[in-house]
Amino acid sequence: MFSTHDTIVAIATPPGRGGIGVVRLSGSSAQTIASVLTTHEGLLAPRYATFTKIRLKRDTPETSGALVAPVVSGFNRMHADAIDQAIVTFFPGPHSYTGEDVVELSAHGSPVVLRLIVRSAMAHGARLAEPGEFTLRAFLNGRIDLMQAESIADLIEAVTPLQARTAFDQLEGTLTEAIGAIDRALFDLIARLEASIDFPDEGYHFVEPQRLVDVLDGLSARAAALLADARRGRLVRDGLQIAILGKPNVGKSSLFNALVGSGRAIVTDVPGTTRDLVTETVDLDGLRATLIDTAGIRDTNDIVEAEGVHRTQQAQSVSDLILLVVNQSQPLDEADRALLGQTADMNTLLVASKGDLPAAWTDPEAVCVSALTGAGLQALRERIATALDIDLTRDRPTITNLRHIALVERAYDALRRARTAAADTQALSEEFVLADLQDARGALEEVSGRRAPEDVLEHIFARFCIGK
Ligand code: GDP
Repeated sequence: MFSTHDTIVAIATPPGRGGIGVVRLSGSSAQTIASVLTTHEGLLAPRYATFTKIRLKRDTPETSGALVAPVVSGFNRMHADAIDQAIVTFFPGPHSYTGEDVVELSAHGSPVVLRLIVRSAMAHGARLAEPGEFTLRAFLNGRIDLMQAESIADLIEAVTPLQARTAFDQLEGTLTEAIGAIDRALFDLIARLEASIDFPDEGYHFVEPQRLVDVLDGLSARAAALLADARRGRLVRDGLQIAILGKPNVGKSSLFNALVGSGRAIVTDVPGTTRDLVTETVDLDGLRATLIDTAGIRDTNDIVEAEGVHRTQQAQSVSDLILLVVNQSQPLDEADRALLGQTADMNTLLVASKGDLPAAWTDPEAVCVSALTGAGLQALRERIATALDIDLTRDRPTITNLRHIALVERAYDALRRARTAAADTQALSEEFVLADLQDARGALEEVSGRRAPEDVLEHIFARFCIGK
């Protein structure tokens, strides 16, 4: 099992140089180790920024990377060499990020200095933190639940403002509250059913059969409401795949580049040169979208080209949306019609390309764009959100994480089974209802982490970076 007995240390800011860099310590020796690392006299005042200096012992061969010797009582401060100024903040447990004593040392963002501080802390008894270990401790010490821990990882990894806001809502407890409300009602129901079973002689139902059915209906409605939002939530959190399809030379790569805003894909006049799949992840008005530029679909004998076509079909099968690009400056031909036919039953947006040239046809359903001038690109972005049924100005889905969605689905199914058993007035078996309710509750407790298996925890915290 995870240990929380020792004091851990890590650089909490990203690798590389920066204005400031933060070293974080957590554990019972955090304050003692910090006092050895700084020139500050006496105890650190809780939650006050203390301006001090980072020191290493004079005879420390800094270039060899060797470390300050463990401090002995009566350590002579004259022998210490300061190597940086720092702001040090002490957060006594339990009101700290991890729930333990935490010290944060903000030095200048020099990788050399930060590494020296970490090694010095290690020489004084700290252990280098594992990825996510600070947040793991926060979870194990009951500061946050598992959903909130996961939302911290999501917040750090967010690439669009919408993703960040959605993750922050979860950190603030929106999902915790929604799950907790169902869980509390289940707890109450289970207690009543158990009492009915434990005292059968009284012939008294601690919850009336009709009331039981009503409560179960209410609870499954709440679970269903969470799940109704789940598809959009998953799109916001995990992002989506958009494949750009069309026959050669209609302007797919140019459109891709225009949407990406960089010259990533090769643009050429010779048909069929985009042979591989080129992908790029972009922020499409808050949606994290991976654009896939495909080779043109067409019959071909060329082996490399055939491979490209094969990949196109693969891209098509994994994408959430297809942008079917058709050149509006030329009449529709067989190849265009064939593609329209093939994509008819898929989630497809028709894009009329080369909108700066005179039109050979028009279609009210199509979004007319010009990669050359940029006309129509914003309309295309908006149509993409509409096609995916996401209102970017309003949607802040509560549930976004596949792990949570699967568990809430399990809880929902168990609640429906319990409801069926409860409604069977012929043979209302409180034991059956109880078993289903316990299953529902088990799923919810796995969401919050109150009963999450260790391998699930390991998997979740391995996603974090060191220092978080
Ligand atoms: P792909 O084979 O479908 O990827 O097409 P490309 O993006 O390589 O473009 C094919 C040709 O059409 C190139 O010569 C582009 O410069 C030209 N093209 C692409 N988009 C536009 C556009 O919006 N307007 C005009 N006038 N030409 C374009």
